[in-house]
Amino acid sequence: MKWMIKFRKFMEGRYGSDELGKFLLFLALIPMLLSTVCALLVPFSKVFFFLAFALWIIGVASVVLSVCRALSKKVHLRMAENRKYLKLRTAFLNECTGVFMRFKERKTHVYKKCPHCKAILRLPRKPGKHSVTCRGCGYRFRMTVRKWRFL
Ligand SMILES: [Zn+2]
Repeated sequence: MKWMIKFRKFMEGRYGSDELGKFLLFLALIPMLLSTVCALLVPFSKVFFFLAFALWIIGVASVVLSVCRALSKKVHLRMAENRKYLKLRTAFLNECTGVFMRFKERKTHVYKKCPHCKAILRLPRKPGKHSVTCRGCGYRFRMTVRKWRFL
């Protein structure tokens, strides 16, 4: 395969694909799909033509950005971007898991932020006044837990 060797040579010293690049490509799909829907609605109103065009530009820009990153020779900068993206993604997924767990255990547990170190404490939902000791920093504080109610 001659073109494979050529391609490999071309990519030498270039950054290539990473998680952020894949995410940008995936992100491009959303405005592209919306653009298609708008294009179908053009007979109803001229506004949809401009909307479809604008969305298409956004989608293309996202693809171009992803490709430019892959072809970039500033590998360190691209790696730093990817690290930042992964950090944000992890924080976002943790937040989602947290919200889900709180909802799932809403009748049996309460979640309370430690006023000192901001760690999230998971406590059994026993109605009444309690003295709580943070497992992370040892800070003691008082809190009132009420019975679970729908509203
Ligand atoms: Zn604490």
